[in-house]
Amino acid sequence: MSKNNQYTILPFNFKLFDNDSVLLVNDTGDYYFLKLADFDNLLGYSLDKNSNIYQDLDSRHLVADSDIDLTIDLLATKYRSIKSFLNNFTSLHMMVITLRCNHKCSYCQVTSELAEAYKYDMNPDTAKKIVDYIFCSPSSNVKIEFQGGEPLLNWKTIVATVDHAETLNKTHKKSLEFVICTNLTLIDEEKLNFINDHNIAISTSLDGNKFLHDKNRVLRSGESSYDLIMKKLDLARKMLTHDKLSPLMTTTIDNIDELHIVVDEYLKLGFDGIFLRALNPYGLASKYAEDLGYPIKKFVSAFEKALNYIIEINLKGTRFVEYYTALLLTRILTPFGTGFVDLQSPSGAGISGTIYDFNGDVYPADEARMLARMGDKHFLMGNVLKDRYIDIFNGRVISEIVEKSCLDTIPGCATCVYKAYCGADPIRNYLETKDIVGHRPSSDFCKKHMGLFDIIFKKLKNNDEKEMNVFWSWITHRDIREIECENIPGNSPEYR
Ligand code: SF4
Repeated sequence: MSKNNQYTILPFNFKLFDNDSVLLVNDTGDYYFLKLADFDNLLGYSLDKNSNIYQDLDSRHLVADSDIDLTIDLLATKYRSIKSFLNNFTSLHMMVITLRCNHKCSYCQVTSELAEAYKYDMNPDTAKKIVDYIFCSPSSNVKIEFQGGEPLLNWKTIVATVDHAETLNKTHKKSLEFVICTNLTLIDEEKLNFINDHNIAISTSLDGNKFLHDKNRVLRSGESSYDLIMKKLDLARKMLTHDKLSPLMTTTIDNIDELHIVVDEYLKLGFDGIFLRALNPYGLASKYAEDLGYPIKKFVSAFEKALNYIIEINLKGTRFVEYYTALLLTRILTPFGTGFVDLQSPSGAGISGTIYDFNGDVYPADEARMLARMGDKHFLMGNVLKDRYIDIFNGRVISEIVEKSCLDTIPGCATCVYKAYCGADPIRNYLETKDIVGHRPSSDFCKKHMGLFDIIFKKLKNNDEKEMNVFWSWITHRDIREIECENIPGNSPEYR
């Protein structure tokens, strides 16, 4: 930061954008596009303080006048609120209820076990011990997510976990949520009744239409996974008393050029959005990378095409959200936290989310557990049956992650214009480079996010009114017509 008689330039990162402008972003995520000549004027302290540009830069805390102390206090408050997730240690607790699965998906990240391999089940006593540890967490919000394998194959442990957590919560009075991540094929009326009674959300998997879904998501029995899911989806929708059932898709080489078909399938089935998710390089996805994978550049351009397709759908009158774009826009355009564990600095691994394997082993993230299944236990934090809570959550693994995953200290990220919105992925870095700091120029995580932020900022720079209305409708969870109405001169722009 340097100063002259006129104004103080506050710290920001920047990059050349579209060859005619410079994008400036400060540490709290305020951004501004400046023409190249104006950028020169800013740095040369020759901006006219009465100009609109100066006023805009001032309101975004990129420059300050005599009010410098006040501006720094404001920025500090904003920064504290962005980092407030650190107070909420640890809110997301994922439990691997079993490694058994009735599917054998080609990109399975954990390499699932046969449906008869009961030794890979979490027993109810281990589950209860895990719940005891979960309630040691200082966070007032607790979400317990049941994962697998296919967790419904070990239903009794799910029931025991929910019952024990609800009993403990009578004393602890935390905000307690449950999610079952299931392929849905084993759901039945008894389970749905329990799910209703305990207000449990369901997260399932759907990769597209019958052809695209069945291509990689394969039932061990040889039946069509898609056909069975459609039957169970019908049953679930008839019986569920809440609407907390949402699917997740994985982008493989088979559907990357057909993302519009995946979107159409989601629309046909009445879902109100999609999370366009890239393939993770773990388990079978890593083993068969040549058959399933694609260069990350291809994912970024497929994402852009699909996003434009989704925006068009919204403009034609059907509300349909691309959730990752909505999440990134919330970070860019609002002061609100997203609670998204995978995009935090320091990394949310262990601090915001933790995963407990079927045998009680604890890892900071699902990817760390997958890495352990691939033979490398670098991120094993301890075991709930042997170690104390304090030793697991205050040990070497968490210390190393916190120390080495703050973007402000990571080479490449510290000066990146997108630092305020991005996060660190120490486990992926370790997988790729054997060093949790990683190497930005060769990192697919970095290339993906750099690409996605470029797409979004290109749209923000263009500032097309119709596209912006779609974005604001996603961020504020409102109907686009309501937002369009507010933009008519004379109507009040309540939310903007
Ligand atoms: S990971 Fe890449 S995009 Fe994200 S802050 Fe670091 S350098 Fe920027």
